[in-house]
Amino acid sequence: MKKSFIALNMAVAIGAGSMFSAGYASAESISELKKKESQIEENRSKVHSNIKDAEKSIDKVKGKQADLALQLQKLEKQMKETENKINELNTKITKTKEQIEELKKEIKVLEDKIEKRNELLKERARSYQVTGGNKNYLEVVLGASDFGEFVERLSAVSAIMDADQDLIAEQERDKKELEEKKTSVEKKLSDLESMMAEVKKMKAKQEQQKKEKNQLMKQLKKEQKHLEKEKIGMEEEADILAGQEAAIKKAIAQEQARQAEIARQKQAEKKRQDELAKQRAAEAKKQSAPSTSSSKSSGSSSSVSAPKAAPAPASSGSSGSFMKPSAGYYSSGYGGRWGKNHNGIDIAASGNVPIVAAADGVVSRSYFSSSYGNAIFITHYINGKQYTTVYAHLSSRMASNGQTVKKGQQIGVMGNTGNSFGQHLHFELHEGPWNISKSNAVDPRKYF
Ligand SMILES: [Zn+2]
Repeated sequence: MKKSFIALNMAVAIGAGSMFSAGYASAESISELKKKESQIEENRSKVHSNIKDAEKSIDKVKGKQADLALQLQKLEKQMKETENKINELNTKITKTKEQIEELKKEIKVLEDKIEKRNELLKERARSYQVTGGNKNYLEVVLGASDFGEFVERLSAVSAIMDADQDLIAEQERDKKELEEKKTSVEKKLSDLESMMAEVKKMKAKQEQQKKEKNQLMKQLKKEQKHLEKEKIGMEEEADILAGQEAAIKKAIAQEQARQAEIARQKQAEKKRQDELAKQRAAEAKKQSAPSTSSSKSSGSSSSVSAPKAAPAPASSGSSGSFMKPSAGYYSSGYGGRWGKNHNGIDIAASGNVPIVAAADGVVSRSYFSSSYGNAIFITHYINGKQYTTVYAHLSSRMASNGQTVKKGQQIGVMGNTGNSFGQHLHFELHEGPWNISKSNAVDPRKYF
């Protein structure tokens, strides 16, 4: 197995292509491979244009975010203005209320004064009443003993009456003035309060707007994150596809070399047989002319005409079957799991568990993925058919991109990296190339 592998590698001969004949079945598989290669190329360009689209979408979302940030900034400024207005109004309202209180006090003082004056007037009227009240002013006047006294009394009574009336009128005027002022201040207060109600309504509206805009911003950020994650996924996909393309090219070269080696060996064998036959014929001729029949010659002649169309088995004796890539028990099978399709099998074991290549192949991708963790993809070409195996969640990788690996060769160590819960190997087998929808995945156990 090992020997043939070395021979295979040495046989990468220039001009080997010319030695292919239509009779070789594997020449057809090479054209099949080339077809697949172009399919992968097509797939890759699709993925690249998807990445470009994702980038455009991300830019768009970022632009929306910038717009929104500007709007929020403006709104923030407006809200500050509103807050200032509220503070201003609050000060005004407080002042006006104080003013009203002040006026109320003044009115009260005046009312008290009027009250007291009224009391005084009543008192005085009562004292007049004792002597006859208002009617008795006349009596006071008429009660004069002479004209001189009459005049004197008359003017005195009249003066008292005038003074009282003036005072009352003045106080009533003051009171009315104060009340008018109070009314106007109260009107001012109610204006201020309705203004305040308006401003508060505006504030509530602005707060609602801010909430909505912040919500939208959050959504846009989430969208951006999602798009970026998607883009990373697509880039990963593109890298895997690129790796597969390179691996297939290598697989083709190796297959061509293998066929060249087979052809070379066949020709050498034919030459050897021809030579042997010639030698034997010459010997037979030399030994005796009449006795021609020889058991040896008949045997050799049959070997000369051996069918050259029959292709030799693949260089590695393991072709056509895969081996279990690690020790351990099957912790999860292929197919439906938790409502999702499990595109591989899980093999779990504890300790330091080597992971080996399930078959001969070329490493198409060896990398770290957020989901697969440390992962290795191997492209296989077995009996004219392409396969891909995937080994995920490794704790370490021991094979690099483009490396040729043999069946059973260690490529890593079982681990718990990426989206994994507990040490295990996630193993996938695809009949054909890997693709993002994993449409070529099959249950690997049917190949073990
Ligand atoms: Zn799994």
